[in-house]
Amino acid sequence: SGAAKKCRISRDDVFLGRILGEGFFGEVHDGVYKSPTGERIRVAVKTCKDCSADVKDKFLSEADLMKNLNHPHIVHLIGVIETDPVWIVMELYEHGELGNYLVEQQYNLSTAMLTLYCLQICKALAYLEGLNMVHRDIAVRNVLVASPECVKLGDFGLSRYIDEQEYYKAMKHIIISVFVEVFSTAQQPFFWLENGQVINQLESGVRLPKPQSCPPILYSLLTRCWAYEPHGRPNFSQLVCSLRYSAAPSTHPLEV
Ligand code: ATP
Repeated sequence: SGAAKKCRISRDDVFLGRILGEGFFGEVHDGVYKSPTGERIRVAVKTCKDCSADVKDKFLSEADLMKNLNHPHIVHLIGVIETDPVWIVMELYEHGELGNYLVEQQYNLSTAMLTLYCLQICKALAYLEGLNMVHRDIAVRNVLVASPECVKLGDFGLSRYIDEQEYYKAMKHIIISVFVEVFSTAQQPFFWLENGQVINQLESGVRLPKPQSCPPILYSLLTRCWAYEPHGRPNFSQLVCSLRYSAAPSTHPLEV
């Protein structure tokens, strides 16, 4: 397709650096990409260990989805190299995963900043909502920190386009984890329960307690997201509005 061609880049323009971490399909490296205009851009390069056609298709499906996304709080895809060894080249966010960042910076991050991260994640999700896309793996380990004032939602490996009916079913419980993780220094929600128990507890009406540092106004917003009936929950655009209000724009000169 035309979109696919647009994203194809030449391996000669990518300079591979050190290993950043281990992805599901293979190592992720940092590197530099020389753009057609000669600009040098720092990048993260996802590689794929297994070069069988099946695995490669799965690996590249994430990039296929990302090609159509363009949002200030979503990881930006630069291009793909579809010949072996296949590579996915993305913009580099040098502060790494939000989960780790929350732990490292726990004594430096204000409530206003944490609320700003939630707002930015919500903006990304409202954008996906407009495209009928569900992310299906929202967690602070899948959010990258571009700068201390800017986070980007990534890891679209499980994302799907779905119809409206399905959308409401899929929305169940998703937002609980990110917000609570952001205000609990990246601790996993319900870490005190076995996996199988979580659904039972939710079904019986149990909800997560308010993390200590979470402002009450934000927690009351969260409890609305946990309404048992999906139609009783706010959508992401409504959440963005409410969060903007509780994030008091005057404290965030960078937020527009
Ligand atoms: P999984 O599905 O297990 O999460 P994955 O294949 O999606 O794996 P990632 O978790 O996205 O791989 O990446 C592996 C490592 O590379 C992570 O530690 C992540 O922080 C880092 N990384 C990935 N993309 C970027 C990026 N654009 N900028 C900076 N670091 C990145």
